[in-house]
Amino acid sequence: MYPIPDHLKSCFVPVGDDNSEMRVTGAIRCACGGLLFTPYINEAGTVAALRCPKCGEKLLLFHAARHGWDAFVAKADYLYDVSGKLHAYDACPQCQARTPFAIRATITSFGRQDFIDESELEDDSGKKLREEDWVNAFSSFRLDVVCPACAQTTQSVIDIETA
Ligand SMILES: [Zn+2]
Ligand SMILES: [Zn+2]
Repeated sequence: MYPIPDHLKSCFVPVGDDNSEMRVTGAIRCACGGLLFTPYINEAGTVAALRCPKCGEKLLLFHAARHGWDAFVAKADYLYDVSGKLHAYDACPQCQARTPFAIRATITSFGRQDFIDESELEDDSGKKLREEDWVNAFSSFRLDVVCPACAQTTQSVIDIETA
């Protein structure tokens, strides 16, 4: 039982053996099978989209005013500056290769029971939530990318608390 939010269910592939209800790291796989993407990120690091260069598919990876505890349960989207243009992250900071990247996303959660207890299965606008929504109320989001040219991993492109 991993905290993979609904909007990433179909493309998030857990990697490694350190995953749990509290923390999961995964790769993103496109519906076409592609594993390399060009990330598009705003200046504040609060919105990230991915584009698959093989099939052209676009995917919203993270949006701080929609995803995570603050936005999804507390309805506190005003906490996040999600304005600003998305800029392509299309060159490796280590080797300067212009390339799409493999994606490593890490999501942390306080767990299913904590979500049920703390939210009482209702968001702050009074809308009912399902127990299964615990995955959408995650507590942090981190994005790293892996360069296929030099195999180096970034020290986080996005690293944000969402609770
Ligand atoms: Zn694709
Ligand atoms: Zn590189």
